[in-house]
Amino acid sequence: MNSLDLHTIQAIVKKRNPNANKSHHGHALLVAGSKAKMGAAIIAAKACLRSGAGLVTLNISRKERQAVFAAIPEAMIAFREEDHSLEKHTAFGIGPGLGTDKSAERKVASLLENIKLPIVLDADALTVLANNPKLFTKIPPNSIVTPHEKEFDRMFGQHANNPDRRQTAIQKATEFQLVIVLKSSQTFITNGSQNFLNTTGNAGLAKGGSGDALTGMITAFTAQGYEPLQAACLGVFLHGLAADITLETQSEESMLISDVIENIGKAFR
Ligand code: AMP
Ligand code: MG
Repeated sequence: MNSLDLHTIQAIVKKRNPNANKSHHGHALLVAGSKAKMGAAIIAAKACLRSGAGLVTLNISRKERQAVFAAIPEAMIAFREEDHSLEKHTAFGIGPGLGTDKSAERKVASLLENIKLPIVLDADALTVLANNPKLFTKIPPNSIVTPHEKEFDRMFGQHANNPDRRQTAIQKATEFQLVIVLKSSQTFITNGSQNFLNTTGNAGLAKGGSGDALTGMITAFTAQGYEPLQAACLGVFLHGLAADITLETQSEESMLISDVIENIGKAFR
């Protein structure tokens, strides 16, 4: 098992080309949010933009557009009620706040059918997968799934502890050709042959919205051309490091995920 530390991360991070334009840093599509859970979509989009994606489009219901424009003017919107070409997107993050009703199920199934690139799948998309196990074989190879322990058990069966979950994660990553990010206070990342245990983060992250930010970050790194395993490692490490930096001005109790997102810049530096 590799320790996911500063040394490992510094070997992965690519320098930004000083002559780059936005098209060099990818165009992420985030399919996230539903009526009562628009915050998840906004958090994911903010974290995605703070992590270097060139363009971010949020796929949301037309009714919710004003909230999104007000919260994050840098993001573009594609209305969920309308057909949207997937061709122009170079990275996909699906699931935060999406809901688990029939329309969410249809959306996830149709995206899995039509997207050929690796996808970041999180939150409600994982519950949809757990409820429809046949969909597993439709996930594009090298996609990244980011379950917390409960989501992991919903997908892969009950486990007594995280060492057991890690063994299953290695098997399932191999079986389905996935990168699995098993989130906890010590997040474990595997592609079936390489395994990493994260060293950053604190209990201030044990709050709603934390995972949604991580999804945005990992999606941003896939948009920028990092290999899925590298994108997952970068996202997990920097997410935890930004939370550790947030402790300079907040406590674990007071920390908001918005504060953590504001500190992604310091984490990069
Ligand atoms: P979620 O449950 O989907 O919101 O994801 C929670 C995120 O916060 C994951 O990235 C976890 O690894 C992280 N997290 C939660 N609790 C802790 C903790 N006690 N220490 C470090 N990271 C944590
Ligand atoms: Mg979550």
